Amino acid sequence: MIQLNVECPHCKESLLDKDQKKDGHPAVRLTITHKEKKGHLLLSSLYGSYSQTQPFSIPSGDTVSFFCPWCNVSLMSNTVCDRCSAQMVSMAIAEGGRIQICSRQGCKKHTLEFEDLETELKAFYNVYSTFFKG
Ligand SMILES: [Zn+2]
Ligand SMILES: [Zn+2]
Repeated sequence: MIQLNVECPHCKESLLDKDQKKDGHPAVRLTITHKEKKGHLLLSSLYGSYSQTQPFSIPSGDTVSFFCPWCNVSLMSNTVCDRCSAQMVSMAIAEGGRIQICSRQGCKKHTLEFEDLETELKAFYNVYSTFFKG
């Protein structure tokens, strides 16, 4: 599996928290809000891993709003999930490109887009075995 160097598309700060590990790698730390609650969600930075730590329990099927923990700008994109119609969450990748994940709890839809084809092919090759499960 490849580790994604995820960063905020607005302030370009890294969203990886080196003090918080997931799958043995720095976790992706994001601010989330759900109803009146607010906290930090930790996601694995490995592409294809779904391990996460929630700050509070989120019922499966509910949608969550995502924000950058540094600049507090919303990470919600204009794209909607083609599986469940929830808004997608968009984050930049340091190498160029972006990853989008669905904001609905329990929906595993995610897309990875690279700016340059060579990087994309290399990454695609690396994640080939996990790519079609998601
Ligand atoms: Zn930011
Ligand atoms: Zn979805």
